[in-house]
Amino acid sequence: MKRIAVLTSGGDAPGMNAAIRAVVRKGHHHGLDVIGVRRGYTGLIQGDFVTMDLGSVGDIIHRGGTVLYSARSEEFKTPEGREKAVANLKEYGIDGLVVIGGDGSFRGAQLLSDHGFKAVGVPGTIDNDIPGTDFTIGFDTAVNTVIENIDRIRDTATSHERTYIVEVMGRDAGDIALWAGLADGAESILIPEASYELDDIVDRLARGSRRGKKHSIIIVAEGVGSGVEIGRQIKEKTGSETRVTVLGHIQRGGSPTAFDRVLASRMGAKAVDILLEEKSDQMVAIRNNEITGIDFDQAFSMKHQPDMSIYDLAGILAI
Ligand code: ATP
Repeated sequence: MKRIAVLTSGGDAPGMNAAIRAVVRKGHHHGLDVIGVRRGYTGLIQGDFVTMDLGSVGDIIHRGGTVLYSARSEEFKTPEGREKAVANLKEYGIDGLVVIGGDGSFRGAQLLSDHGFKAVGVPGTIDNDIPGTDFTIGFDTAVNTVIENIDRIRDTATSHERTYIVEVMGRDAGDIALWAGLADGAESILIPEASYELDDIVDRLARGSRRGKKHSIIIVAEGVGSGVEIGRQIKEKTGSETRVTVLGHIQRGGSPTAFDRVLASRMGAKAVDILLEEKSDQMVAIRNNEITGIDFDQAFSMKHQPDMSIYDLAGILAI
């Protein structure tokens, strides 16, 4: 292995820059040339490559987003598109590729091996929805962004003695809602992995009100449905004012937390180690605080499930 490349693909996530930095610096540490590919698989097909020297990743560890830009590419899903990508990789003398992204990006990476090309995935998505790893890069930052914003909402909720419904991201996974809900003492947390009854939520609100609570926060994961619609239903049942906030894309931005910077640095470095061992078709994962590599096939055969003990505990503590 002499020359490797790195790209970011799919939705961006805070900490991706720290992962790029780790790949570049760890690669140079082992005497490798490192090439950056701009705009994910689109750049791979177009040959949008840039040499990454040690200085190219200076001053980025604390920045959100990705300096290599991210994109989604329909063309890469076709065999012709992938052939163009592989031809470019070969022309540049690249022996291995690190793909920082979500599970869609990893499916693309796995297909590169059909062309005899070595590729390793680094899980970067705020959703924490990739099977086989306890955490993905960006999740911790997104949860912290959510709780910062809920803390602000809580101030106004208390002043006006209202119920606030906050819709958070996560696609089909409830992890962001779950962690933010426990961290913020939300009255109810609605996630796609657990069914809910509107009457239970309303009962909880009534119990809180009897105890003299001045406000209530209900967190809805986007995978459950529209926070606006749930707010409307709760207002209809209780007859009292509700306000809905959809946090949206602010959850994807911002400076990564220390946890995400450390995770990204460890994972990026591990991806280089895997390539140096001449292995491929693997994803870097953190399991029980150990950074490891697992086969894409093994990861794809699993189903992501958030830690439901957090859900149970949040239910107990939010009485
Ligand atoms: P996020 O979870 O943040 O959206 P992701 O990596 O899952 O990230 P996708 O849009 O699913 O995001 O995938 C990113 C890109 O990976 C796609 O635009 C496409 O180029 C490639 N890709 C996804 N799925 C496949 C597939 N089955 N075969 C080949 N390439 C794929």
